[in-house]
Amino acid sequence: MATIMQEISHALAPSVFRGVKGRCPACGQGRLFWKYLKVNGRCEACDQDLARYPADDGPAYLTILLVGHLIVAPMLFFPIVWRSNPLYSLPIILSALAIVTLAVLPRVKGGWVGMMYALGVKEADAALHTADLAD
Ligand SMILES: [Zn+2]
Repeated sequence: MATIMQEISHALAPSVFRGVKGRCPACGQGRLFWKYLKVNGRCEACDQDLARYPADDGPAYLTILLVGHLIVAPMLFFPIVWRSNPLYSLPIILSALAIVTLAVLPRVKGGWVGMMYALGVKEADAALHTADLAD
C-alpha cells in the first residue's frame, strides 16, 4: 500500500504557491483563471490540462474556515463590535468581510488546484466526486 507521500507526483509547495499567485501549477507562467474563478482549460504557456482539476466546494469551505478563524473570531474580542449600534456596524463589518472573502477565494482556489496538480489527480478520479454520485 502506497503512502500519500509516494503518490505525490509533483512538488507540493511550489505547485500550491504558483496556484495561489493565479499561475499554472505546472510551469508558473500561464494564467490559471480566465475569469474570476473560471480555470483555463489548458495552460497558455505549457499546454498543461488544467480542466482536469475540479476544485468543487473545497476552496469555498477553506476560505470560510480561514476568514472565520483569522478575521471574524479575533474581531469579536474588540469591544467596539459589541458596543456599537448594529444598524451602523453590521453593514460596515459585513461589507468588509465580503470584500476580504472575495479577495481570498481565488487565491485559495488557485492553491487548491495547485495541490490537486501536485497530488496527480487524473480525469478518472472525477468518478470519486460525491457530487457526481448524487445524480
Ligand atoms: Zn503552464
